[in-house]
Amino acid sequence: MFIDVHCHLEMLGDVEKIIDNAREKGVGKIVAAGTDVKTNRFALEKSEKYEEIECVLGIYPDDALKMTDSDIDKEIEFIRENREKILGIGEVGMDFKNTLDEKGRKRREEIFRKFVSLALDLNVPLIIHSREAERECVGILESMGAKKVVMHSFFGDMDLVKKIMKNGWSLSIPTCCVKTDWFWGVIDFVDLSLLLCETDSPYMHPEGRKARKKNEPANVVASYGKISEIKKLDLRDVEKVIEGNYKALFGI
Ligand SMILES: [Zn+2]
Repeated sequence: MFIDVHCHLEMLGDVEKIIDNAREKGVGKIVAAGTDVKTNRFALEKSEKYEEIECVLGIYPDDALKMTDSDIDKEIEFIRENREKILGIGEVGMDFKNTLDEKGRKRREEIFRKFVSLALDLNVPLIIHSREAERECVGILESMGAKKVVMHSFFGDMDLVKKIMKNGWSLSIPTCCVKTDWFWGVIDFVDLSLLLCETDSPYMHPEGRKARKKNEPANVVASYGKISEIKKLDLRDVEKVIEGNYKALFGI
């Protein structure tokens, strides 16, 4: 089966329709990522209700900035309580796009470290958002000894991609890779055993900005197709290997 390891299910509308569309394309698992208190509960609830849906819980870097330490700790407690129902911690990380001052960056780092500690404690993978903070995220993860890591939609330099490989972390290739040539080098360079696929839907549509529709998990097949094309491997073999990668990483 094909697997979408990262999407924002709460933004996609009718969940049953999304699952049906996915099934029709052979997509058997959809991992919904929580990004705040509300979407964490949404993702958890849908994962309990539908066989095809799994969830990871976390706080998105921008949302975390609006929370106090006690709010964040409360949410971490909620995640702990649901350890048996979740695949991992995400979407968490750091985003320096709109944070240029030292104080803001320090705060983001502080919060990120809380979630890395949580994942290490629970012994589950982290799904990392690292926009314009790629080097800093990799540095923190390395220094804290994180082993189970998925760098989601990663746009860092090739020397960081090499570090990711050396650490045995995974990279999930978003569906925009069909048009975004930056990913072609990554797909070519990184061993298939470290690749996963994602839609990040409703974002990252395979047709790029021109697409009039929201992206959705059914489209994850586009990432598999690009990997199969670049690595000159049969699509079925790519599907099989990545299913194995997913199961090994998340302990299924
Ligand atoms: Zn995302």
